[in-house]
Amino acid sequence: MKIEIQITPHHIEPTHGFASEFTGVAGAIADFSGVVRGEENGEAIAALEYEAFSPMAENEMRRILASLAESFPCLAARVIHRVGIIPAGDIAIQVNILARHRDAAFATLSGFMNRLKQDVPIWKRRALPLRPPAAQHADKSAPAVRPHKHIPSVDEALEAIRSHVSSLHPVATQLEQAGGRILLETVYAQEDLPTTDRSTRDGFAILQGDSSPVFRVVDTLYAADWKPRQLKTGEAVRVATGSAMPCENLRVVMQEDVERGGDSLKILSPDSSDNVRRRGAEMSAGQPILTAGTRLNAGALSLLATIGCTRPKVSPRLKVLHFLTGDELVSPDQKPMPAQIRDSNSIFIRGCMQPFPAELRQQRLPEDFERAKTVVIDQRPGIDSADVLLISGGASVGDKDFTRKLLEFLGFQTVFQRVNVRPGAPFIFGVAGRRIAFGLPGNPLSHFVTWHAFVTVALARLTGGTPPVFSRGTLASDLPDAGSPRETLWPARCQISEGKLELTPLRWNSSGDVTCLADANALIRVPVNIAELKAGAPVEFTSF
Ligand code: AMP
Ligand code: MG
Repeated sequence: MKIEIQITPHHIEPTHGFASEFTGVAGAIADFSGVVRGEENGEAIAALEYEAFSPMAENEMRRILASLAESFPCLAARVIHRVGIIPAGDIAIQVNILARHRDAAFATLSGFMNRLKQDVPIWKRRALPLRPPAAQHADKSAPAVRPHKHIPSVDEALEAIRSHVSSLHPVATQLEQAGGRILLETVYAQEDLPTTDRSTRDGFAILQGDSSPVFRVVDTLYAADWKPRQLKTGEAVRVATGSAMPCENLRVVMQEDVERGGDSLKILSPDSSDNVRRRGAEMSAGQPILTAGTRLNAGALSLLATIGCTRPKVSPRLKVLHFLTGDELVSPDQKPMPAQIRDSNSIFIRGCMQPFPAELRQQRLPEDFERAKTVVIDQRPGIDSADVLLISGGASVGDKDFTRKLLEFLGFQTVFQRVNVRPGAPFIFGVAGRRIAFGLPGNPLSHFVTWHAFVTVALARLTGGTPPVFSRGTLASDLPDAGSPRETLWPARCQISEGKLELTPLRWNSSGDVTCLADANALIRVPVNIAELKAGAPVEFTSF
């Protein structure tokens, strides 16, 4: 029995049927979708969070299916289990069973579902309650927001972002538009590759094991020719590199190794190599080729083109709207007056968004709440259709800092408005259903740090990509004066030296510093209240 198992954090579309290899053999297809109910123990819920212990969970599911197959013979089984936060109404598990007879298909399906609960290490981590009634206009699928006075640590802020952001629904997209997007389905080969035995040399195809003293050339095949014929002992066919072989069980003698006279030829140097790329040598129908979560680079696109997958399901283009605040800001091509500064945050965000397939709109807002409100009222449809709203500046609590107020005016609920981090403490995260918003502090270094530490995690989750994680490295030089009651995300240069990941902390004094921005490709986590870190100390860092 062919078994496919997949555990995925992504949205599952109902699937049906199997690769064409079973056409005409199967008499029964049992398809089952387990959907998250909007209720748990009598309480209304927005979502369930599932966790899996991989790869044990996959192995266990495979084992259960194989053992059921001993009693109920089936041809194929596919199980896709979603993990992470699954909104009510979404599919948590999809099972497809293919059998010759319906009894076996039903028995396998029901036996599998019963044993799944008991034996497989996949469990419900928690149920996410519906948000309070006042907020019910927002999307029911997102987890509840509990505004609190507590200032979250870096880890808590990351956890809050992770729990509120899940991947957008996949869209089927033409290959020409799919570059850089995340594949949100596992793609299977629909046919063997190569589809027939093909020659890897210019030469002569003969039957395997044919040791005739002389061969008669009975045909000529170029790369585009398809002329099936059963070769006989003593017969040869002239072939080119890439030619589809006329029948099975042939091998190719390189033209350099034969002596040809008219229609006959002799093999000069007997050689045992086949010089044939066999049908299915690279992949066979039904085999997974690319898994969900793969970023589609040029190589992956060419693979999809080869197998004829021309509309893969991928992450949609993100709609990102960026508002810039600060009346003191002038465009970089202007000479600032003494009280003005050049806006560097807009181009920073544009640069950071470049690797993401996204539509980015940027606009300035007046630094006056009432005037800013009139601008956003005018733009309401555009704002409400953005997946991500970013506001740079005004994230703190000064008289003119209205980011939080403006986000709430736009229907966002504040998840947190500050993080216990430096630089970048005034950092706001808000949600409105599936839409999210960030208020980034205007100081360029704070803006840089909060982007790389937090915003990128949300963007990766929205697009189904792999969020950045903290890794372990070694400090290349001392870090004196590191102590702070806030965790520090220290800008650093990460490089490999003598096979070790080394982190050189860069110099910065204030969150307005800009000189380290060009060199920094990592942030080192410096725990709270630490006196100093010496060169050689192990540190956690994230790189970009
Ligand atoms: P804010 O977050 O609005 O309180 O701004 C904090 C500091 O960052 C102020 O000194 C601002 O002038 C500066 N700042 C704000 N926005 C930008 C920007 N787009 N580019 C450079 N500096 C900025
Ligand atoms: Mg400002």
